[in-house]
Amino acid sequence: MGELKQSAQIEKVNLLGLDRQGLADFFAALGEKPFRASQIMKWIHQQDVADFQQMSNISKSLRDQLDVLAEVKAPDVVLDELSDDGTRKWVLKLDDGNQIETVYIPESDRGTLCVSSQVGCALDCSFCSTGRRGFNRNLSTAEIIAQVWLATRLVDEEKKPGRKVTNVVLMGMGEPLLNFDNVVTAVHIMMDDFAYGLSKRRVTVSTAGVIPAMDKLGDVLDSRLAVSLHATNNELRDQLVPLNKKYPLEELIPACRRFIEKQNTRTRITFEYVMLDGVNDTDQHARELVKLLKGIPTMMNLIPFNPFKGSGYKTSSMKQVERFSQILIKSGMTTVIRRTRGDDIDAACGQLVGKVEDRSRRHRRFEEPRFGMYQ
Ligand code: SAH
Repeated sequence: MGELKQSAQIEKVNLLGLDRQGLADFFAALGEKPFRASQIMKWIHQQDVADFQQMSNISKSLRDQLDVLAEVKAPDVVLDELSDDGTRKWVLKLDDGNQIETVYIPESDRGTLCVSSQVGCALDCSFCSTGRRGFNRNLSTAEIIAQVWLATRLVDEEKKPGRKVTNVVLMGMGEPLLNFDNVVTAVHIMMDDFAYGLSKRRVTVSTAGVIPAMDKLGDVLDSRLAVSLHATNNELRDQLVPLNKKYPLEELIPACRRFIEKQNTRTRITFEYVMLDGVNDTDQHARELVKLLKGIPTMMNLIPFNPFKGSGYKTSSMKQVERFSQILIKSGMTTVIRRTRGDDIDAACGQLVGKVEDRSRRHRRFEEPRFGMYQ
């Protein structure tokens, strides 16, 4: 009895959160060889087996040990919604009651999974509804990878040709570079051939511009980087992306160059630019953008603003988005206008809110009208 009680108290290690090195260390502590790490990774991520007893190439005694010490556990799916355009959104409930969102976006040649990295977001970008709901905490590596693990299985279960997770973007809720270690470990798992085997071109980490972490990221990963730019001068960017006050444009742009220089292969930085009517979308802004990014290999993503209640912003007209993109294209910049996807199920950029027990008390500020400028 005493023994049972003791084993019930052991906090099990969730193996979803360990990359190959982490698993090798875990098995080393049990006196097992490092190759167990790749074996178990395959079972979990490729064969979709969470029950250790079914892992047939692992000895019975190790399976029994794993039952006591470890688990493969994903959050519960509390909502599973399919948009008219094929986009699918899941709301996941975490152990502490918070909820996060994950979105699958099918396109003709790929299936992109948009993954959250934090519960809420601390950055408070003025046009983003995630930010408005406040911030609670970082996601663990297991909670980040669980989104890929669940989505891969749920999309496979549809048995529809062409629907597969081929790309991952860390563009869901949160600022990935403020959850650096857990995000990097999660990306290792995404790229590991014994897990998801995604090539470096198919995993994108997105940031509002946390410069020291961008530098660190360039040292440890060669995934793609997306930078949420949204403005061409500090005055405007301070308002849209308050993080700019700490890391202004004259430091952000050189940091982008440094990131590129560290990559082994030729790569481009994706810049995201939300199109806000009358705020950052004039022809003049487009010309400033060309000047600002001169010499940086760029993939420009223009994102029509996805409205939400009380935002105080309007989406630029399609005509202006086109004009803006033409100015960029004529200057030689690769530019795409991101199609709004899944907005009927609130799955579009900046619409992911989950259910965040806000610890920043930010949402309270928004209960009262406050910002004269855009309202
Ligand atoms: N914090 C990271 C990851 C979030 S990615 C980052 O800032 O890059 C989500 C992207 O959607 C960001 O580029 C964000 O600025 C953009 N976005 C946020 N709210 C939006 C909205 N309402 N409409 C369109 N894009 C939005």
